Amino acid sequence: MKIDRSFIGEVSKRSGQSFDGCFHCMCCSGGCPVSDIMDYLPNQIVRMMQLGMRKQVLESRAIWDCIGCYSCVSQCPNRIHIPHMMDTLREMALAEGVVVGEPDIWTFHREFLKQVDKRGRVYELEFMARYKLSSRNFFQDVVPGMKMLFKGRLELLPKTVHGLDEIRKIGDACYDPKRRK
Ligand code: SF4
Ligand code: SF4
Repeated sequence: MKIDRSFIGEVSKRSGQSFDGCFHCMCCSGGCPVSDIMDYLPNQIVRMMQLGMRKQVLESRAIWDCIGCYSCVSQCPNRIHIPHMMDTLREMALAEGVVVGEPDIWTFHREFLKQVDKRGRVYELEFMARYKLSSRNFFQDVVPGMKMLFKGRLELLPKTVHGLDEIRKIGDACYDPKRRK
């Protein structure tokens, strides 16, 4: 069977990582704090890329579950940067219009980026309201949210940072502006 290497080649080029040295020691997966909710472990994602399983990888939940904690980077004997790989895979999944494995997490990312684009920082009350409207998770985390509000941990009025234009330029360089709409 001929393995399609174009997928891993593209991820490698876009993320600046070489995956050839991965010997599947599982150190990355062993130290990952969210591995128990992933459908595939980080080293399994690498393996699937090596096997050319483009569709399965781009539709996986794991690429959205990664919280970018960098624990795996410090564990990997080959210094393979798994979070850069995950970021690249998320960007590729969005660009290719595949079914997002964790739609609520993508909604959270999108609403967060909209906030940064709008004010250079997050206005939590609006952020939470917009996330709930988009995800339709109306009652999740309501109690902790109310506690934070009553303890004065949430700003009642929005604030905008100085230098918002610079922040927007950084955003435009990092993300496709259309995806923040
Ligand atoms: S820690 Fe590095 S070498 Fe080991 S499985 Fe993970 S990516 Fe591969
Ligand atoms: S960066 Fe992502 S894959 Fe790596 S340990 Fe953290 S959550 Fe897991």
